[in-house]
Amino acid sequence: PAGGDVILRAEHLERRFGGLTAVSDFTFELRQGEILGLIGPNGAGKSTTFNLISGFLRPSGGRLFLKGRDVTGASTKTISRLGLVRTFQHHSLLSEMSVVDNILIGTFHQRLAHEKRMEKVREVASMTGLADHLQIIAGNLPHGLQRMLSIAIALAAEPQILCLDEPLTGLQGAEVGAALELFEKLRTTHGLTILLVEHNVRAVMRACDRVIVLNYGRLLAEGSPEAVSRDEAVIEAYLGR
Ligand code: ADP
Ligand code: MG
Repeated sequence: PAGGDVILRAEHLERRFGGLTAVSDFTFELRQGEILGLIGPNGAGKSTTFNLISGFLRPSGGRLFLKGRDVTGASTKTISRLGLVRTFQHHSLLSEMSVVDNILIGTFHQRLAHEKRMEKVREVASMTGLADHLQIIAGNLPHGLQRMLSIAIALAAEPQILCLDEPLTGLQGAEVGAALELFEKLRTTHGLTILLVEHNVRAVMRACDRVIVLNYGRLLAEGSPEAVSRDEAVIEAYLGR
């Protein structure tokens, strides 16, 4: 279905940590309106890639283009203003604060009157199943709703590109289904482009238009979910038989 203009392009992206090259010669494109899956074994470099494209880490080499602009080495602020917002794999919530205050954080880089901010909070809370939980302390939410809250915070920033780092971890079957429905709705009715890092390969194959596979920091394969599922190198390195 999807596959518009290129909205994000990484060229020969590289990131070293001392003697370790976590991301190496990684070239990929994200196209407007697609859901792109990024999978690979633990330590393959997926979260590092998120840190690079969102400005949390500077690349050791290569270039990044966001909407045609060279954003190599740009700050998180510049990148989020250009519409790319990411969630974190771990601890992205202020667990002592209420759901509403957590979501409000997502709105802070926008100039908005308080009432507009609260409208945004209610809108994203209702999309993520949090409408009835606004006053709950985030750390007291059930795990599934804590995962949805991380997404709600990201959505409150009104992203055009949403990068989700393992959003389905620990979700129950029905919650996985609801999350995938949300992703699809964000794409179809809100026009978002989504980059999804996820260990739940079945969910990735169901949700994504295209999948890229990282292994030891390098691109191993790229293609439709069907093609990637059948790729011998991917089966060998990651999927197993
Ligand atoms: P993934 O998300 O695919 O599991 P990561 O991107 O988290 O993989 O990690 C890739 C590799 O880079 C791992 O070997 C990890 O230990 C290393 N790494 C990640 N972040 C840092 C860091 N800040 N300092 C040193 N090594 C890191
Ligand atoms: Mg990771």
